[in-house]
Amino acid sequence: MSAHTHALRSFRNLPVASPLPRDVHVSFEFFPPRTPQMEQSLWACIKRLATLHPAYVSVTYGAGGTTRERTHATVVRLRQETALEPAAHLTCVGASRPDRRGGAPLLAVGHSPYRRPARRSPVEGSDRYTPHPDGYPYAVDLVAGLKRIADFDISVAAYPETHPEALSAAADLDNLKRKIDAGASRAITQFFFDVSVYFRFVERAEKAGITVPIIPGVLPVTNFAQVVRFAGPCGASIPAWMPDLFAGLDDDPDTRRLVAAAMAVEQCRALHAGGVTRFHFYTLNRADLTFAICHVLGVRPCEPTALAAATGSPA
Ligand SMILES: Cc1cc2nc3c(=O)[nH]c(=O)nc-3n(C[C@H](O)[C@H](O)[C@H](O)COP(=O)(O)OP(=O)(O)OC[C@H]3O[C@@H](n4cnc5c(N)ncnc54)[C@H](O)[C@@H]3O)c2cc1C
Repeated sequence: MSAHTHALRSFRNLPVASPLPRDVHVSFEFFPPRTPQMEQSLWACIKRLATLHPAYVSVTYGAGGTTRERTHATVVRLRQETALEPAAHLTCVGASRPDRRGGAPLLAVGHSPYRRPARRSPVEGSDRYTPHPDGYPYAVDLVAGLKRIADFDISVAAYPETHPEALSAAADLDNLKRKIDAGASRAITQFFFDVSVYFRFVERAEKAGITVPIIPGVLPVTNFAQVVRFAGPCGASIPAWMPDLFAGLDDDPDTRRLVAAAMAVEQCRALHAGGVTRFHFYTLNRADLTFAICHVLGVRPCEPTALAAATGSPA
């Protein structure tokens, strides 16, 4: 029986009130704030989610280096004011090789190596990606370049539904294998909503000789219309059942949030039933949904002393 079939069968057998798993590890993604108000809500979100003791938290980097300073400032503040393990995202875009080398010691402020998903993105203002003339053309080159600098703990992006610019699904999987072979320790997936898509992808990856963890990236849906807009460019599909789930809720954010939480919980429990114990949440700098989903997965706030250490505040 394939892993995917097994997972779906296990999920069907899950009693509604089955005991909460206590083997789940989570990590959270944030984006750097643009305004003082956004900064406040980011830090409120970080403080709440820090209580769940994530394995690490990651901070995105705008395509074309647009958030360079803000990403760096957020990572530094996380390092200075919390006990969280911050992972700065690095992209291949808009930066030369020397720039990358110059950037590495700055990121190494906290003395321990950062985990950093490596990727490239289309150059801002143009449809097609053009590598920097003196830069890393693809994420595989960035991974190899970083490994030449130091033994960083590197994560890379994976695409269960294939990267939209890939020549083919096979070429994309081959690209993932090369990123791992270049020194990445794990892959974090683009978001997806159909769990069978993830399990099929993991099966294909295993057959291709990829043995590192492939951690599902979970996107709790706060705004369905917005998700529909950016799913295509991200290479993620919207399952046929999903529009109906959110139909009529455009002006009803409270119900939408409850529905979104229920949907993500179901998705995560199906993944867990299939053997997944690590989850990466795209928080969009909002704590409520992610916190609730983690709660159902058995991820609970740590003791007050550990909490003080995690948030940098007195116990
Ligand atoms: C977990 C995660 C975090 C992300 N964080 C950010 C972020 O912080 N900031 C941001 O801007 N974006 C982010 N993204 C989006 C990401 O930047 C884009 O999806 C990017 O276009 C691809 O990244 P990659 O690592 O797959 O790149 P690559 O591995 O470089 O691949 C990009 C495309 O090129 C193809 N390719 C690779 N090598 C070759 C070759 N030699 N010839 C032809 N084609 C080739 C691949 O198949 C793929 O289609 C994130 C995505 C994920 C999944």
